[in-house]
Amino acid sequence: MDARERALAYVQQHEADFLQRLAEFVAIPSVSTKPEYQAEVARAADWLIDQLQRLGAQTARFTEGVHPMVYGHLPADNPDAPTVLLYGHYDVQPAEPLEKWSQPDPFRLEIRGENAYGRGTADMKAQLLALLAAVEAVRHAGPQPVHFKFLFEGEEEIGSPGAARVLAAHPEAFRADFCLNPDAGMQGPDLPSITYALRGLAYFELRVHGPSHDLHSGAYGGAIHNPAQAMAELLAGMHDADGRVTLPGFYDRVRPLTDEERARLAQIPFDEEAFLASAGAPALWGEPEYTVLERITARPTLEINGLYSGFIEEGSKTIIPAYAMAKLSARLVPDQRPEDVAQGLRAHLETHAPPTIRWELEQMASAPPVMVDVDTPAVQALARALAQTWGREPLYTRNGGTIPIVAMLQDQLGIASVLTGFALPDSGMHGPDEHQHLPTWYKGIRALVRYFYELGESGS
Ligand SMILES: [Zn+2]
Repeated sequence: MDARERALAYVQQHEADFLQRLAEFVAIPSVSTKPEYQAEVARAADWLIDQLQRLGAQTARFTEGVHPMVYGHLPADNPDAPTVLLYGHYDVQPAEPLEKWSQPDPFRLEIRGENAYGRGTADMKAQLLALLAAVEAVRHAGPQPVHFKFLFEGEEEIGSPGAARVLAAHPEAFRADFCLNPDAGMQGPDLPSITYALRGLAYFELRVHGPSHDLHSGAYGGAIHNPAQAMAELLAGMHDADGRVTLPGFYDRVRPLTDEERARLAQIPFDEEAFLASAGAPALWGEPEYTVLERITARPTLEINGLYSGFIEEGSKTIIPAYAMAKLSARLVPDQRPEDVAQGLRAHLETHAPPTIRWELEQMASAPPVMVDVDTPAVQALARALAQTWGREPLYTRNGGTIPIVAMLQDQLGIASVLTGFALPDSGMHGPDEHQHLPTWYKGIRALVRYFYELGESGS
């Protein structure tokens, strides 16, 4: 039996232990969004430090935001082995509304059928523990094939407020060849998945000012330009009839989708009708030359997130409002940069805003898009490990959302993340009856074991 087989046998023999550990971890209600759970989040961090120390790791706790980031380092004997940074977040969403759960206590793990139910199981305590279980199995089986580093965040569900400062303060600690992030889930129990791209975000607030105060429309209407109307005109000019964004330069840096990539994306099962039904909208919309899945993951967008002006109470009030406000955000794809969108927006406003109003644009949160080359050894090692475990090639997916830590690791430390995970699409993340499918979880642990050996052999 070689080390890999010993490690896989170890996983098989210890499934019950791993499940017991999941129950312990879930029992700590590490709800990061609610101040009254602060001590529980800290307790979850302590619990993880203990787990890492049992594995033999050096540990540290860095707090720059609200909750600690747990760090661990477990070097291999071979100094030339690659370093993989294993990412997880140990904070969870609130469990409320409690009456929607089928069990009395969402923080008491319940096994029903093939699933383990509890808040934070799928998102992502089971995923995080899969990493630790696989590391344990590999350590038990012989020399470690790769250097392990650990980054366990306690602030993911609140937007990672301290993460950028932690990374900036300890760049050497987190230095790694790349990051494995199992927070992306998979497409189905038989569809292992690798997520290789996320969209970025650029968020803005636009204010259009007219008169110094609300005016009587009977006395001023017809001779003073209404800022709500001016706002509507400016916003209406930001898309063409097919849904393309018309801001100058918006698409200049967009990396075109290759035929090869489109073919890969087309393998992902995606039901447009179910998607439309889930949205509850009357019809689909958007760039006609792209599939719906491409539109929501691989194409950039500009959205109006909020719109406000004038009198919105019940009844009527005949005014020309003093100002109008809009919140706008763009989802970005490689290689767009948030600052380019800001520039395009400004150019649009400079060209089209009439002299009858004054405008102000404030740039708020932003995150760059990220994409990892699927042909790199690190991704291919994961693809082989998933294929060996599931007996089929993984799907390569893009995610239309934004994960701040992934962008920060890329931006601040130059560390690319490869995303996967063993949570199924219907696992109830953030909602009631959240659960982890256990057979998939045990498979996931075995896949991670294989991954570490593949990685060591690939020498990436
Ligand atoms: Zn998550």
